[in-house]
Amino acid sequence: MAPNSDWFEKDYYKALGVKADASDKDIKKAYRKLASQYHPDKNKGDAKSEERFKEISAAYDVVGDEAKRKEYDEVRRMGPMGRAFGGAGGFPGGGGNRGASRSFDVGDLSDLLGGIFGGAGGGASSNNRGRAGGPRKGSDLGANLTLSFADAVTGVTTSVHLTSDGACTTCFGSGAAPGTQPDNCHRCGGRGVLDDNQGMFSLSQPCDLCGGRGKIVINPCNTCSGSGLVRRPRQVKVRIPAGVKDGQKIRLAGKGAPGVNGGPKGDLVVELQVGKHDVFGRRGNDLTITVPITVLEAAEGADIKVPTLDGSAKTVRIPAGTPSGRTFRIKGAGVVTKKATGNLLVTVEVAVPTDLTAQQAEALADLSDPNVRDHLFK
Ligand SMILES: [Zn+2]
Ligand SMILES: [Zn+2]
Repeated sequence: MAPNSDWFEKDYYKALGVKADASDKDIKKAYRKLASQYHPDKNKGDAKSEERFKEISAAYDVVGDEAKRKEYDEVRRMGPMGRAFGGAGGFPGGGGNRGASRSFDVGDLSDLLGGIFGGAGGGASSNNRGRAGGPRKGSDLGANLTLSFADAVTGVTTSVHLTSDGACTTCFGSGAAPGTQPDNCHRCGGRGVLDDNQGMFSLSQPCDLCGGRGKIVINPCNTCSGSGLVRRPRQVKVRIPAGVKDGQKIRLAGKGAPGVNGGPKGDLVVELQVGKHDVFGRRGNDLTITVPITVLEAAEGADIKVPTLDGSAKTVRIPAGTPSGRTFRIKGAGVVTKKATGNLLVTVEVAVPTDLTAQQAEALADLSDPNVRDHLFK
């Protein structure tokens, strides 16, 4: 009997009614007693006894053999770890150097990592690498989208352009010429994997004939040469919510690469670049604007008109004696999202007159306090 993954499942000591640290002699004794008790010759037609006899024999076959028992104990000691990786066995040792670590291949590992880190920004898809057999989610694709300042504030529905593998529209992704179907792979029986029992464990490998798809295309589709995929430019409609920020990533579920073996599509991860605005700035959900006022407005106070991003104008009352750099707030005129409403922060800047005529200079002299800095030197 070849060592295999049964070892994880079965407690051979229990089957023989002995403790795991029982001596070879005790194991032998227990086996003989039970074997004679349940021997088919003594229990003709009793299926339960027959089953029990097989169990006892299988157990003794392993733990009754010094070398196999050692391996068995080792496997059971490491069992849970082996199982975490699908029972394929990710650890070396045991049944010779052949392969145990090979089965835990790089493809599988990168799949694990890919699943965790999302694989954004990829662009291309590589669907057929790694684990064979069952349905798998398609790869995530990445795309960039540049938005105007205003669109980022208000939200917009737009299109993302990308070139990627998509399901072939001639064969709908099957790879088979229209009117034909892919056949089940005869080497793996459609499972996409081949079992390999030579090592310490029962290893499963992607079928080399069908590449793990489980299907063989006899009459390939002309458009995609049987791959089921075509590389083509695509447009994906995207609804950008209000208030997105530069550098933000938006994940569109199901807009990525086609799934493998009937698995769901991957996601499309869109990274946003938000342009600048000539007049407005942004601080979180607040918009900012710098508005010049005259010396007279600053001194005497004034109602000034301030533009807002939606094109309307709002009036801001500047009180008399307003210094340059003071900020006023127009409530609710910032970024409005479902969660928050920002304001428009209006910073006034006193416009200093330049290139004065002699007459203007004289007029200004009247307004100017020659002792303006005196308090600094007291
Ligand atoms: Zn196959
Ligand atoms: Zn096709």
